[in-house]
Amino acid sequence: MSAITMRELTKVYPGGVRALDALDLEIADGEFFALLGPSGCGKTTLLRTIAGLEIASGGSVHIGERNVTNLPPGKRDVAMVFQDYALFPHMTVQENIAYPLRIKKVDRRSRADKAAETADELGLSGLLARRPGQLSGGQQQRVALARAMACHPQVFLLDEPLSNLDARLRLEARTFLKRLQRELGVTTVFVTHDQAEALALADRIAVMEGGRIRQVGTPTEVFRRPANTFVAGFIGSTPMNLVDAQVDGDELTVGRARLPLPDDARGQVTDGERLVYGVRPEYLDYSPTPVPGALTGQVVVVENLGSVSLVSLDVPGDDTADAADADATGDGGTAGDGGGRTSVQVVVAEGGEPEP
Ligand code: ADP
Ligand code: MG
Repeated sequence: MSAITMRELTKVYPGGVRALDALDLEIADGEFFALLGPSGCGKTTLLRTIAGLEIASGGSVHIGERNVTNLPPGKRDVAMVFQDYALFPHMTVQENIAYPLRIKKVDRRSRADKAAETADELGLSGLLARRPGQLSGGQQQRVALARAMACHPQVFLLDEPLSNLDARLRLEARTFLKRLQRELGVTTVFVTHDQAEALALADRIAVMEGGRIRQVGTPTEVFRRPANTFVAGFIGSTPMNLVDAQVDGDELTVGRARLPLPDDARGQVTDGERLVYGVRPEYLDYSPTPVPGALTGQVVVVENLGSVSLVSLDVPGDDTADAADADATGDGGTAGDGGGRTSVQVVVAEGGEPEP
């Protein structure tokens, strides 16, 4: 059993920064779990506190049935891969991989066998005699993984392990990591600030902000049903449009536009209620001519994203009645603002975008 359970876990650094704020989280046995959030939200602190590299100021950490809150790192049966890999530059690949086994006083012969076997699994066999400085970034990353794997820990903790790789290598390493985790079946906590990486890799994701968990769910859940505007704004390749709206019977009024109430909102809102309406740029349609009832605004920027374009519109609010030359028609809804103006983005297929 190697589930990880955190109860009211708190970390206050000397100087008073509350990096973890009474955080509750359960990670299941064998799960590939992503911790996602902006820089400074406490991801590394949480990982280091699970590893025992930071002492919790309050609360508890259990790994399986064991309360490890006050155990030193070496007694927790976890392995951590650091963002910068932290390989020993003066040691060979073989010595780096075997290092944790040496600490555990495994004999020389078994260490060499185990290192060779792990290197083989990660495609590093030809590189055992090299030093880290003689390896590419991707190879260094695999050595760091191999070092973590060599002692068969119950838990893998990976702190932004792909962030130092260039874009193409990162995609390769991502696929590799996912396959490796599936094969090993080891409970893995993976830290990233990259929402696409979290969506692509994880069985479940915890979205963090300010030392707290804002939502836990599968990639589909956090993408389709964000629990709050923070998660809505953080998940997605382009940020979700978030606009003020008011419920009016079967419709939503957004500025001067009237949009059908989304099906899944029915029964969850009351007539006259003011709310924030969120809709992804992918789910809006764009029309170059005004459509009655739809949200109308001025095109300000067109960004070419390859197969699609991202069109940004300035949408006037209720009381600014200026002329409009473009429309965003919602299948799922749209966006506006009670007062001033608001910015709305629409993803438009190739060929359908306005002339820049
Ligand atoms: P993340 O990994 O999400 O970027 P961190 O866990 O590194 O976030 O940091 C969370 C907060 O704790 C930040 O405000 C950071 O400045 C602070 N912090 C991190 N490490 C220390 C430390 N050793 N001493 C004091 N404050 C720290
Ligand atoms: Mg960090």
